[in-house]
Amino acid sequence: MSDSILVINCGSSSLKFAVLCDEGQSVLLEGIADRLGYTNSTLTFKKDGNKESIHLKEGTHKSAVAEIKKWLSDRPAILDSLTGIGHRVVHGGETFSQSVLIDQSVIDDIAECANFAPLHSPAHIIGMNVAIELFPGIPQVAVFDTAFHQTLAAEQYLYPIPMALYRQHHFRKYGFHGTSYRYISRRLAELEPNSLQQGVLVAHLGNGASTCAINKGQSTDTSMGITPLEGLMMGTRCGSLDPSLLSFIAEAEGISSADALDVLNKKSGLLGISELSNDCRTLEEAMALGNEQAKLALDMFAIRTAKYLVSAATTLDSIDHLVFTGGIGENSSYVRAAICQQLKAFNIYIDGDKNSLRGATMSIESKQSHVKVWIIPTNEELMIALDTIHLIRQ
Ligand code: ADP
Repeated sequence: MSDSILVINCGSSSLKFAVLCDEGQSVLLEGIADRLGYTNSTLTFKKDGNKESIHLKEGTHKSAVAEIKKWLSDRPAILDSLTGIGHRVVHGGETFSQSVLIDQSVIDDIAECANFAPLHSPAHIIGMNVAIELFPGIPQVAVFDTAFHQTLAAEQYLYPIPMALYRQHHFRKYGFHGTSYRYISRRLAELEPNSLQQGVLVAHLGNGASTCAINKGQSTDTSMGITPLEGLMMGTRCGSLDPSLLSFIAEAEGISSADALDVLNKKSGLLGISELSNDCRTLEEAMALGNEQAKLALDMFAIRTAKYLVSAATTLDSIDHLVFTGGIGENSSYVRAAICQQLKAFNIYIDGDKNSLRGATMSIESKQSHVKVWIIPTNEELMIALDTIHLIRQ
């Protein structure tokens, strides 16, 4: 079996993993441990179209990695082919502008930025420490969601608040989805080599959603901020709004500011407006049955995305490409059409027939469009595997 890479993505209450071989091009195995931290957590393996789930007695990230190791030990051909492990890390602060081989000082530096991602960073660190313990001798690499946006100029990443807060506490925009944007930029360059010298707008629209402007291959603006709450309206996040609302909500509802922040993170966005679901597909189905609130939520989502794309475009020399990616961007022809409807002033038009297709890599602009419009499925696991291969071969 060819060399393979284990990709580990520790979320706050889940752990997704995949084993990629053929230089990251083939997925040998993938799976998820979910409901970690609860009593009924399960670990699911998917291989060759077969699914196998086991109950995780101890529902922790540590036990999930241990069970993955055990499962692989029963399949020595896969275990013996592992040459590296790549970890997705949400927040790399200002310390990490690219992927790195993990050692203790890297883990310490990730712990230093943990206050900006208090749910994710501790999970990442557990995942790394357990993987180092259980897969001794296999090099491990950290790939950061924030790293791609470290090219932003100070004018873009600073918040207009007292500079002392930035100097003392590093309060600034970091941006997320960087691994996805780096993949999209690379994939677009395979399709259109000129794009590395051009201006590209990308809308990564999933349950979490953000936009990015990529000028000549470098991120110049992105919509998420110090945390993923800033920017677009999302599945359950409100995105940008007047910050005074935080204390208004806390006072009016008699709750703490932390609980008010929870409202903005977990009960807002598509869910908050539709009062039905955070899931785009569910809302499209409801809209088709005449649910006006579901339509309102989707239209607000689209309009706000268009505004952020236009705002990000101020950092480009020209708008040459617009790329849709993420679960909604790749699949929802309604949302793509509603976004592009708002972008006519920028000579962005899509072809209705092409836009009705979904899921595949293709361009969907109409003849009159001055901008190429693309659907490109993202592949963060591939990017993590490629970074891991690159660093372990150096
Ligand atoms: P995340 O990785 O941020 O959790 P995803 O990128 O997986 O999210 O995207 C999930 C979103 O994609 C959900 O809102 C889901 O409804 C939407 N989605 C997936 N498939 C479709 C589809 N066929 N039509 C419309 N929306 C879809």
